Amino acid sequence: MPKSAIDPIKLERLAEVAIEVGVNLQEGQNLIVTSPMSALPFARLVAAAAYKKGARDVTFLFNDDEIALARYRHGSEAALDGAPEWLFKGFAEGLENNAARMAISAANPTLLSEQDPDKVSRVNRANLAAAKPAMKYISNFDINWSIAAYPSAPWAKQVFPDLPEEEAIEKLADAIFAASRIDNNDPVAAWAKHNAELQSRSDWLNEMRFDALHFTGPGTDLTVGLADDHLWTGGSAPSKNGVTCNPNIPTEEVFTTPHAQRVNGVVRSTKPLAHLGTIIDGIEVRFEDGKIVEAKATKGEAVFLKMISSDEGASRLGEVALVPHSSPISQTGILFYNTLFDENAACHIALGQCYAECIVDGHHLSKEQIVEKGGNQSIIHVDWMIGSAEIDIDGIKHDGTPVPVFRKGEWAH
Ligand code: ZN
Ligand code: ZN
Repeated sequence: MPKSAIDPIKLERLAEVAIEVGVNLQEGQNLIVTSPMSALPFARLVAAAAYKKGARDVTFLFNDDEIALARYRHGSEAALDGAPEWLFKGFAEGLENNAARMAISAANPTLLSEQDPDKVSRVNRANLAAAKPAMKYISNFDINWSIAAYPSAPWAKQVFPDLPEEEAIEKLADAIFAASRIDNNDPVAAWAKHNAELQSRSDWLNEMRFDALHFTGPGTDLTVGLADDHLWTGGSAPSKNGVTCNPNIPTEEVFTTPHAQRVNGVVRSTKPLAHLGTIIDGIEVRFEDGKIVEAKATKGEAVFLKMISSDEGASRLGEVALVPHSSPISQTGILFYNTLFDENAACHIALGQCYAECIVDGHHLSKEQIVEKGGNQSIIHVDWMIGSAEIDIDGIKHDGTPVPVFRKGEWAH
């Protein structure tokens, strides 16, 4: 890959924004970074930015497409249930001791599309189970963390299949830079302004204290009850260790915790979802008392059905998020096949684990107390897009009064 495909100055700035705005790495703090090998040039810039900010130690955990495929091609039955528990224990210990966490997103969206969905699901379950002790520091928001993206060749080729590789990478890089507010001369100030805007949206929704949201659109008539004491949040937020970070670069969403028992109706996805190296498209599900009771997809249905049967909470909602159709990511018109981008181009819901920070005082509540308020628990958290220019949303007050929240995909208030 020629180096000229990605603007080196902007890439360096993206690494700085990821560390300063995304993670907000503190002087003397350790940092654990997960990254595909295909993002190595960016990983190196992240390391430099982290040490410049005073990192004590920066550790990288790399994964590689060919090595991941080797398990499927040559692995024994036992290999499908194997995961490095010892490594995740160390990961958890790092986070327990206040290391910050960063993920670099650059995966090939179709890496595993030829593999048997049963095998893909088994490998994923083994990994999620092993990772659980570490990931709880993320879902509890104990430490500052963030995800940023790098335009790797396999990803760029999926997004722009008709372009030569170099051009595809350049185009995806430009889209990532624009969405991550790197084009701006002062990205840190641009992020501060953007965070303030997302905060004012959250403030309004928190003042309204809706009992439920009602989504209507083509194939969609869905009532999403909200958890008791739910809290809307978006943009930057303080983690339990007191450091305010931006968990996603980019981000355009405000989101909260639905009530795991109070979701009813039908919903149709509006964008394909890249999940576990497979594209899932045309999802249509029906919820009854919070649980999916009917499900189909026009593409990747087997993977989707496996996913929602991962555990009891995998067929219930753990997140509902609002994103206007005019969001800059949506306006690029690009389908990224990457949830970090596509979920920030449309309203979405997530099946699986809820976020404790989306419940009032959630940091101080036990798992049981969160469940009692309607917060869902699961080994998975998978977002998929249900928003478009055709979606209307009403907030339903406790007395049943509807209040327009979105009309034709845009904020209505
Ligand atoms: Zn979300
Ligand atoms: Zn999510």
